[in-house]
Amino acid sequence: MKREVEEILSLVKNLKKEDVDIINRAYAFAKKAHEGQLRKSGEPYFNHVFETAKNLAELGMKAKTISAGILHDVIEDTGVTEEELEKEFGPEIVSLVNGVTKLGTVRYKGIERKVENLRKFFVSMAEDLRVLTIKLADRLHNIETLKYVRPDKQKRIALETLEIYAPLADRLSMGRLKGRLEDAAFQYAYPKEYEEVKQLLMEKKDAKEKYLIEVKDVVIKKIKEAHIKNTIVDYRQKHLYSLWRKLQKYNMDIGKIYDIIALRVMVDTVADCYHVLGIIHGEWTPVPNRIKDYIAMPKANGYQSLHTTIFTGTGGIVEIQIRTHEMHQNAENGIAAHFIYKEKGPEKKVATKHLEWVNQLREVNQNEEEHKPEEFLKNIKMNFFKDRVFIFTPKGDIIDLPEGSSPIDFGYAIHTDVGNHIQGVRINGKNSSLGTKLKTHDIVEIQTNKNTNPSSKWLDYAKTTLARREINNYLKNHSLLSKFLSFGKS
Ligand code: MN
Repeated sequence: MKREVEEILSLVKNLKKEDVDIINRAYAFAKKAHEGQLRKSGEPYFNHVFETAKNLAELGMKAKTISAGILHDVIEDTGVTEEELEKEFGPEIVSLVNGVTKLGTVRYKGIERKVENLRKFFVSMAEDLRVLTIKLADRLHNIETLKYVRPDKQKRIALETLEIYAPLADRLSMGRLKGRLEDAAFQYAYPKEYEEVKQLLMEKKDAKEKYLIEVKDVVIKKIKEAHIKNTIVDYRQKHLYSLWRKLQKYNMDIGKIYDIIALRVMVDTVADCYHVLGIIHGEWTPVPNRIKDYIAMPKANGYQSLHTTIFTGTGGIVEIQIRTHEMHQNAENGIAAHFIYKEKGPEKKVATKHLEWVNQLREVNQNEEEHKPEEFLKNIKMNFFKDRVFIFTPKGDIIDLPEGSSPIDFGYAIHTDVGNHIQGVRINGKNSSLGTKLKTHDIVEIQTNKNTNPSSKWLDYAKTTLARREINNYLKNHSLLSKFLSFGKS
């Protein structure tokens, strides 16, 4: 297959002249830079960056992000330097490519380095979410071509995709991307279960589809009679991996799962949604306790839709999802849809919703005393981000601390010797009090003096167990009594 730039351009909405220009230039630049490089599959390497960019265009991303997607491997994998790239494409694209490159510079060198990498990844993506979408689009192409990778690597990459990348896509409410990542990874991560679920689905699908088509025709007719305009009625099949997850909850009993295939009704307005729900409930009996109003009460990732399940009257049960076209876009493309709205004008509600979790992303959870990568990995999986702040040393190292931490905690997190001799602190270049509560991205510089020692006052500022333990140790060892005792001993 030939990868022509038109294929990407045709996917971009409201294409402007400068968009065409930059994508064309990125295409030509990357093609030349990757010339002669091959992937494991024997294909030209360029195909990978092309497909990454195409994924981004499909997600609804804009020209700059798409271009950065085409260029995402040039610094890492070709002789192109940052300066050259900046000269050609300007600082914004360079910062996007750099963001993606940084996340990938230390690859697959044991869990420790990889996790360190992941941590940087989270901080940087909280800075610019476009970096994250490029990384996800890159991962999507890698996972969809995983058959060319060594089997022992396949499983690890597949698991990582299911445990790290797909949940991230979900947090960004990129439903379609999440589904593709999961379904491509599923067969490598859990091959036996994959086959099992595929089999189950094949057995059930036809019967389910029959009922659905019955209902669909009636729905279309009734909506027409009610003069609701601009509607789309279609249906979707549940992704294999999410079907498996659900089956596990129901003892692998597929008879208990009603949304294997669901009918989808998309309309213009929220009022139309409730109108359609009324029409459906007037026509069929709803299954009790299966009516969900995610329009009035959206899911945590912002998902909005009405769900109901009905008895078809002919022995079947069908789930119906009703939403506006805009809600549908948001559910499929998530944050990407948000970028589109941003260009049209401020879309306050969506923006704040996403910002909330962006802030959470910054607060990567890490076990306090331990710096064990496995711990870190486990914690991200369990609970993406709990109340943490990221603090920078003047050299740019990142120290993460619990929210409410002070420069005292920061000092002890660096080294006990630093902690025990704190004299003063500069935060973002300004002299500050030792009781200041640190904020994410503060640059903190501790000034030490070998003659200064911990005082009991410091306990009021110390939040971490590490700092409190060290201060208490010091105070205990240097109390009058202990001095007296050690004096007596000698
Ligand atoms: Mn890549």
